[in-house]
Parts: sequence; structure tokens; C-alpha cells
Amino acid sequence: MGVLVVGSVAFDSVKTPFGEARDILGGAATYFSLAASFFTEVSLVGVVGSDFTDEHVQVLSGKGIDLRGLERVPGKTFRWAGEYSYDLNNRTTLDTQLNVFATFKPRVIPEYQALEYVFLGNIDPALQRDVLRQIKRPKLVGLDTMNYWIEGHLPSLHETLKRVDLLIINDSETRQLTQEHNLLKAARRVQQLGPKTLVIKRGEYGVLLYHAGHWFSAPAFPLEEVFDPTGAGDTFAGGLMGYLAAADSQTPADLKKAIVFGSVLASFTVEEFGVQRLARLTYPEITERYRQFKALTHFEDIPT
Ligand code: AMP
Repeated sequence: MGVLVVGSVAFDSVKTPFGEARDILGGAATYFSLAASFFTEVSLVGVVGSDFTDEHVQVLSGKGIDLRGLERVPGKTFRWAGEYSYDLNNRTTLDTQLNVFATFKPRVIPEYQALEYVFLGNIDPALQRDVLRQIKRPKLVGLDTMNYWIEGHLPSLHETLKRVDLLIINDSETRQLTQEHNLLKAARRVQQLGPKTLVIKRGEYGVLLYHAGHWFSAPAFPLEEVFDPTGAGDTFAGGLMGYLAAADSQTPADLKKAIVFGSVLASFTVEEFGVQRLARLTYPEITERYRQFKALTHFEDIPT
């Protein structure tokens, strides 16, 4: 099973306490696609401007990502700039230039309409619904959103959430969306809004999964070198959805594996600026870190 992703393809300028990079390839759909491509075929719906070069295309198409749904229009590609504080958990957005993204109307080309695994990246909830209307029979719809849409477009977001199976958001967004501080209670409220499965991203503290009345918790993989957290969330979502699409399964066991694959992929992304580490990652490196992750979180039962 392949996966369809809609979201931003961008040029990012990033400053962390350890360095700086300007106008590097980024965007939610970029990170998602690169991560998911380790598991399944990926079809990308997005838009770029005339400044998007063949070299940028090659980073994605070289991994077999289907770019027939990536429109190239006159103008400049979406640009985002951000800065991280010393603990890397706090990010300030310095600049957002929508450019060609401002008039983006996602078009799902006929070749993509039968895809069953769909990830709606962080865009206007009305556009997310437009995408869903163009998909014939989705089996699993995942969604990301952000405080901007929760604050300013809540009724529209609620409408979209009715059609979503898997919500992947961070802890502060979960609290904001549900008006509930306690994440355990917030998860039940999310289910009332539509998604039966909730994945709460907690940055360097890991991830919580709520599904079928049960919780699962995974830490972030401990790393000595963290350079740039940009894209960690989208990489995580790509690994998670990519694995589920490949397994064509949503059992609790596969959801847990998907969470760990997502966490493993994200741990590579943050090791270097932008997509550099992800772009040269190999599958054996992923499986090796998956096993290290298992050892990290394993503990024995107590004697009866
Ligand atoms: P993450 O660190 O996982 O939250 O993802 C960061 C990526 O999201 C960057 O590569 C940005 O280009 C992209 N991004 C930032 N702001 C927006 C926005 N308002 N809409 C869409 N994508 C964005």
C-alpha cells in the first residue's frame, strides 16, 4: 500500500545554538516523504516555485518519491525561518513567506485517488477536506495541525477531524484543541471529535499513543549529538504512516511498531541540519537503531 501526503515543500533558514543554515530544503511534506519512502511508495501533493531546482527534485525523486502531484508554478517557493533556544525545545518562528503556497489548491491527480493511506500535513483545514473529497476510499487518514489553525479556524478544523482516524499533534496543541490540561482526559475528548487514535508528540520526552482505550509510551532515542530539531515531527509522522501503509494494518502491535519506527527516523533527522542525515540514511541503520530502541525500553516482569 502506498501513502499520499499533502503539505509544505519549503526552503528553511534555521538557527540553533550549534550553527546556522540558510535556504535549505525543508517543509513538512519533504521530511514526511523521505521518512515514509523507507517503507512504501510515497505520492506527494504540494507546490513549489520556479526557484526549486532539479537538484532539489533529485533529493526526493532519487528516493523513488512520486512527484507527479508536486506542482511547479511561477514565483517563489514557501520560505520559513526559525530559531531554537539552548534547550532546543523552544522554537521561535522568525519569518514565514507563503509565496506560491498562499494560493495553493491541492489537486489529487487521478493516479493518486485510489490511495488508501493519506496524511494531511499542517495546512488550512478546509484544504485538508478538499484533499479528502478527492480520495475514493481512504482506509487510514492521518492529520497534523498547529496552534494557528486551532486558534483561528476551530469550527473548520472540527469539521475536518470528523473524517480523521489518526491525529498526530504535540502536547500543547492537544491541550489547546481540547481545552483540557490533563492529556489522559484530553485523549478521550479527541476521540469525541473524530480520530480514534491519538499520537501526542512531546519533543525530547518522546511520544504517547492512545488507541482503543489503551496507552503506549515511547521515549525519544537518547542522542549525544542533536543539531537541528526541525522536521522531527514530520519525519516521525512519515515513519509511522509509512510503516502502517506497508503493513496495511492498524492493529495495536503494528501501531506500537510504527511509533518506534517514527521515533527512530526522527532521531536521525535531528542529528544534522535539514534533510542531510535523512537523505543519506540506509535501511540497515534504521533496523539497527530500532533494536537498540527495543533494548533501551525493555524490562523484565517481576516474579509471581
Ligand atoms: P516540524 O519541525 O516537524 O514542526 O516541521 C518544520 C517544517 O514545517 C519546516 O521544514 C517548515 O518549512 C515547515 N513549516 C513551518 N511553518 C509552516 C506552516 N505555517 N505551514 C506549513 N509548513 C510549515
